[in-house]
Amino acid sequence: MSSPKKNEKQTVIQDVLEKPSSRRSFLKGASIAMAAGSAALATGCMATGDTTTSEEMKLRWQEYFKKHYRLMTAEEKKETVKRLERLAKIQNDLDVQIGTDPPIENVLYGYAFNISRCEGFMECVAACVKENNLDRKTNTQYIRIFEMEPGKLDPSTGDGQFYHKVPVENKFYMGVQCFHCENAPCIKACPTKATWREPDGIVVVDYNWCIGCRYCQAACPYFGRRFNWSQGEVPKEELTTKQHYLGNRRRPKGKMEKCTFCIQRTRKGRLPACVEACPTGSRVFGNLLDPESEIRFVLEHKKVFRMKENIGTEPKFWYFID
Ligand code: SF4
Ligand code: SF4
Repeated sequence: MSSPKKNEKQTVIQDVLEKPSSRRSFLKGASIAMAAGSAALATGCMATGDTTTSEEMKLRWQEYFKKHYRLMTAEEKKETVKRLERLAKIQNDLDVQIGTDPPIENVLYGYAFNISRCEGFMECVAACVKENNLDRKTNTQYIRIFEMEPGKLDPSTGDGQFYHKVPVENKFYMGVQCFHCENAPCIKACPTKATWREPDGIVVVDYNWCIGCRYCQAACPYFGRRFNWSQGEVPKEELTTKQHYLGNRRRPKGKMEKCTFCIQRTRKGRLPACVEACPTGSRVFGNLLDPESEIRFVLEHKKVFRMKENIGTEPKFWYFID
C-alpha cells in the first residue's frame, strides 16, 4: 500500500502533466513535486499511471524547458517541432505538420482593405477561424468587421456585432485586425520579449515565452490582440493540420494570440485565408517591395489612408476607396 506522502507527490505530478498550463504554473508545480522528493521527475522517466506515458512525460518536460524561438538553432527548431507533432499524436491522435519557414528574402508584407467594396459577409472571419484553429468554445476571432454609417471612418462609432442579412443599403464596412505595425507599441510593452517583428514585417508571438500579462493588448491602439482564457477547442475534423510554429499551432491556455498574416500560408507564397475567402475582392495582400504587386498598385493608384496615422505606429495595413 502506498504512503499518503507518495500519493500526494503522485497527484502533484499528475496535475502538472495533465493540465494545460503555463511555463510559470508548470515550474511552480514542478518545484512542489521536487520538494516532495521527486528525483524521478527530473529524469523524465517516472511512470505516472495509465493516462500519461513516460514518452509523453519526457516530451513535455523537454518542451517546457526549451529556448526562446529566436535563440534556437535550426537543429533545435527541428527537434522542437518533431516533439510537438509527436505530442499531438500521443495526446489527441492528430497528424499535424508544424513548419518553421523563415521570412522570404526581399519580402515585406502589406495589406489593403477596400471599404467601398466590402459588404459585411464575414466570409473572411470564418476562413480565419478555420485556418488558424481558433477556439470554437469562446468564439475567438482575429478579424472584426464593423458596420458603419456613411461619413464615419472610426470603427469605435460602428457596430462590431451585427447579426443580420447583408448587404444593407447605405451602410459600409470596415475590417480590423492586427495591422503589423512597423513601430509597434505591443512589442515595446512586452516584458519578456515574447513578441517581435520579423524581417518580412509579420508581428509574431512565441506562445511558450508569453506569460499572459496582457500588457501588449493594453498597448495596442487597434484592438489587434486576443487573450486565450481557455485551451482552444477545435473539432478534430475541422483542424488545419498544416501549421507554423509562430502561427496556427495549438496555443497553450493563458497566452496572447493574433493575426499573423497567416504565416503558415504566406511564407509558402500563398494568400492569407481571409483574402482568398473574400467574395467581393475587398482584400488585397502582397509584397510591398515588389513594384509589380497588386498591393503596390493599390497604394499608388487608389485613395488610401491608415488608421490613427498621427500616432506613428506605421501599420502595414491600408484602407482604400475605388
Ligand atoms: S496592430 Fe496592435 S497588435 Fe498588431 S502590431 Fe500593431 S500594436 Fe501590435
Ligand atoms: S501577454 Fe505575452 S506577448 Fe503580451 S506583453 Fe505579456 S508576455 Fe508579452
